[in-house]
Amino acid sequence: MKIDGQCHCGGVSYEAEISPDTVIVCHCSDCQTISGAPYRANVPVKVENFTLHGTPKTYVKTADSGNKLALAFCGDCGASLYSSKLENPVILNLRLGAVKQRAQLAPKGQYFCRSAMPWVFDLDAIPKSQDQTSSHRPHYSTGRTRG
Ligand SMILES: [Zn+2]
Ligand SMILES: [Zn+2]
Repeated sequence: MKIDGQCHCGGVSYEAEISPDTVIVCHCSDCQTISGAPYRANVPVKVENFTLHGTPKTYVKTADSGNKLALAFCGDCGASLYSSKLENPVILNLRLGAVKQRAQLAPKGQYFCRSAMPWVFDLDAIPKSQDQTSSHRPHYSTGRTRG
């Protein structure tokens, strides 16, 4: 599947060819801290199937194994873009949040569930609003769409 993505300000963008069956969610504590979100979704792409426009910044993270990973993000808007091995990357892990087609890319697996937020597997039970948070009590939907 061909996808394209960009950071929030548009300074960095890309095109890629991925398999929708390889989308995953990672609940590891590094993904939580670095993404600013309770978990992160990624889809891998081979470097030869990835075309980058613009120049992301990289933050080098040393894993527990000693492997060094390069985490690419936009230096202007801060949006996360992908990670790869620092030396001779073969695969990039694209951050799903920057992929335009992300709504079509449901995850097929979840990893590092031992560090997942205890509430994250029951999001459906949390009251929902169709638009933004406000200082007013949101108009929660009454539940799932019935069909
Ligand atoms: Zn940007
Ligand atoms: Zn992770």
